[in-house]
Amino acid sequence: MADPAECTIKVMCRFRPLNSSEVTRGDKYIPKFQGEDTCIIGGKPYMFDRVFQSNTTQEQVYNACAQKIVKDVLEGYNGTIFAYGQTSSGKTHTMEVRMGNLHDTDSMGIIPRIVQDIFNYIYSMDENLEFHIKFVRLIYSNLLPVSKTNLSVHEDKNRVPYVKGCTERFVCSPDEVMDTIDEGKANRHVAVTNMNEHSSRSHSIFLINVKQENTQTEQKLSGKLYLVDLAGSEKVSKTGAEGAVLDEAKNINKSLSSLGNVISALAEGTAYIPYRDSKMTRILQDSLGGNCRTTIVICCSPSSFNEAETKSTLMFGQRAK
Ligand code: ADP
Ligand code: MG
Repeated sequence: MADPAECTIKVMCRFRPLNSSEVTRGDKYIPKFQGEDTCIIGGKPYMFDRVFQSNTTQEQVYNACAQKIVKDVLEGYNGTIFAYGQTSSGKTHTMEVRMGNLHDTDSMGIIPRIVQDIFNYIYSMDENLEFHIKFVRLIYSNLLPVSKTNLSVHEDKNRVPYVKGCTERFVCSPDEVMDTIDEGKANRHVAVTNMNEHSSRSHSIFLINVKQENTQTEQKLSGKLYLVDLAGSEKVSKTGAEGAVLDEAKNINKSLSSLGNVISALAEGTAYIPYRDSKMTRILQDSLGGNCRTTIVICCSPSSFNEAETKSTLMFGQRAK
């Protein structure tokens, strides 16, 4: 078992490039950078474990944000990687992009790279090791009345939270995992708002559970990794949502703020961690405290139009330090 004092929370900050509609509108590129860990917005410096400028490649982001966690999960630790930020700040680009197939290596985001790395590790191990990899996809949204996606959290007899009724399957190859992700995307609830893009009002959570057993020594190891593409963090007023969509947006914002509370309590080392304040933090509970590795990638737009949202995203990241 790991020493709880080893529990680390890393906060990385990524700026995407200006997109074509921002350029057309005449938006300014506002971030300035200092060294590898500081960005400056409106004259104010914000410091993180790493700051990625707009030209950072997917591979560089993977190496800095995920490689070590994957190694630790294969050694029996639990971990969580979050992408946080307003809609269209680059969360899904950072976590997912598959672009057709697993061999389009440049554009691959964190999740397909992790899947590939885990399978490469398995292929490289000797035959006495038996692996069971479980991959679970959860879509967390408050609006959908469909029970399949409105899942309830239960605790088993060891008080480990689990989610009842979710889609669960065993996988045998990287491609099978990626197919599951694609199915998940098709099901993901999307509400159209005044933001230029579709605003995804749900958290998307992928769990990879790797169990290993040495068939000769009977030694066992199990590590869990949660990969979370959070719902857009933008203020409700900016999205122009109404009615049920507005209620859902408020719920999403509430779950994001309770996540922020849990992470800052962990960062401060407070005795009481408010895991039970939201479903999402209950689900992630055993991968956010004690025996864990946590990385938050806060994703930012570089555009002057989004300056207020970018500052609030940077503040969220600072609370976790
Ligand atoms: P989010 O998931 O936060 O809503 P996306 O990941 O969908 O945002 O990104 C919005 C758009 O910006 C997409 O078209 C995406 O391809 C593009 N984009 C995001 N990050 C980058 C990046 N680092 N480099 C190039 N394009 C990016
Ligand atoms: Mg997205």
